[in-house]
Amino acid sequence: MSAGAVDDEFDPGLERVRSLVRDVPDHPEPGILFRDLTPVLADAEAFATIATELAARVGLADVVVGIEARGFLIGAAVALVAGTGVVPVRKAGKLPVVAASRTYDLEYGTATLELAADTLAPGSKAFVVDDVLATGGTGEATCALLAEVGVEVVGFGTVLELAALGGRARLAGIDVHALFSL
Ligand code: AMP
Repeated sequence: MSAGAVDDEFDPGLERVRSLVRDVPDHPEPGILFRDLTPVLADAEAFATIATELAARVGLADVVVGIEARGFLIGAAVALVAGTGVVPVRKAGKLPVVAASRTYDLEYGTATLELAADTLAPGSKAFVVDDVLATGGTGEATCALLAEVGVEVVGFGTVLELAALGGRARLAGIDVHALFSL
């Protein structure tokens, strides 16, 4: 198992975040319980909590990489608090000039992620941010993209880890920081 932590002890700020997660059964297909963090982002106090809590875990990274799409919102806030820049990893077809591309399996279906050319210098250190860690395929593909362009991933931060799906195991060797797990 990777180093890092699920910071699951009681904390009033994180309890507010947890209480705002909306469960949507059978989305985007039957059998998937979708954990919607949109209400968390819409709440000023909860949004500030996740930004500051994740920023405290950025460590020695000099850039935050946010995964499309909720990872953009959270990653940008984390970067601002931590004092780093932010780079998006995007779904296929959005970027004009692509440095690297990965197709991978999701909890439902497949997806392709891309990294823009000339945004990250080889040797830079990245802290990757997404809203939910489920099977870990998205995080694994993102780390592979970054490795391909010579970027070191020094941590992976997420608000919510769906622990039963085992995503942490696919991020072997990376410090995984989840603010809480369900
Ligand atoms: P995974 O690659 O399985 O770790 O999935 C991570 C990505 O898919 C994240 O960007 C999540 O937003 C989304 N995702 C996957 N499963 C769920 C779920 N059950 N609830 C909410 N988001 C999910």
